[in-house]
Amino acid sequence: MLIDSHCHLDRLDLTAHEGSLDKALDAARARGVGKFLCIGVDAANAPVVKGLAEQYGDVWCSVGIHPLDLSRNDPAGLDWLLTELNHPRVVAIGETGLDYHYEPESAPLQQESFRYHLEAARQTGKPVIIHTREARADTLALLREADLPNTGVLHCFTEDWDMARAALDMGYYISLSGIVTFRNAGALRDVARRIPADRLLVETDSPYLAPVPHRGKSNEPQFVCEVAAALAEIRGESLQQLWENTTANFHRLFPLTAAA
Ligand SMILES: [Zn+2]
Ligand SMILES: [Zn+2]
Repeated sequence: MLIDSHCHLDRLDLTAHEGSLDKALDAARARGVGKFLCIGVDAANAPVVKGLAEQYGDVWCSVGIHPLDLSRNDPAGLDWLLTELNHPRVVAIGETGLDYHYEPESAPLQQESFRYHLEAARQTGKPVIIHTREARADTLALLREADLPNTGVLHCFTEDWDMARAALDMGYYISLSGIVTFRNAGALRDVARRIPADRLLVETDSPYLAPVPHRGKSNEPQFVCEVAAALAEIRGESLQQLWENTTANFHRLFPLTAAA
């Protein structure tokens, strides 16, 4: 089994599947994708992702406020998040984090939000899904400050090895997306080679970032197979090894998904 550890099922372009999410999921299942983690981005889509996780036995979800969605949502706050996290199909917190690439001006607000997500992780023991872009020092500083016994994952990782190693040292996992297949992503492929086999996850981040050879099209969960194939080749592992390791890692990080 392969697992798509980060997808936005409520945002897929379903044109290729006659408008049917069932068909998009079936296309992935037919290729061996056995589980999907559907990621929340704000208060408005929390009921939607929870609904999908209730509807499908192989879909789980997370709830949180994306760092680039704060202006529309704040103050959602810690109490809101803790209430959402009571739901049995909500297995993680996020996505949260810091993105100074698109919105450097909202850094203080992003940090405040990231902090209360980390506090929710502490109080619930659920892992946190971290979006980080051009905010290496602050992301690591907040993770260090939180010092969570349960950790989480740096999703769609595109930063350098120093940051990866610092996060790995704190117990975090690293998830790679279709970006590793992009022609200009040589530095990221070097990082991908060095991530320990027991800390690596794979994701599509669909509908964004479709891997080669689908680049430019809308991304969907079945393309996690292309991400995995590229990673196996980059890392010099067999496809089977990569599937098994990333699935075991997913179950270790998100234990609430392991029983099914
Ligand atoms: Zn993200
Ligand atoms: Zn995402």
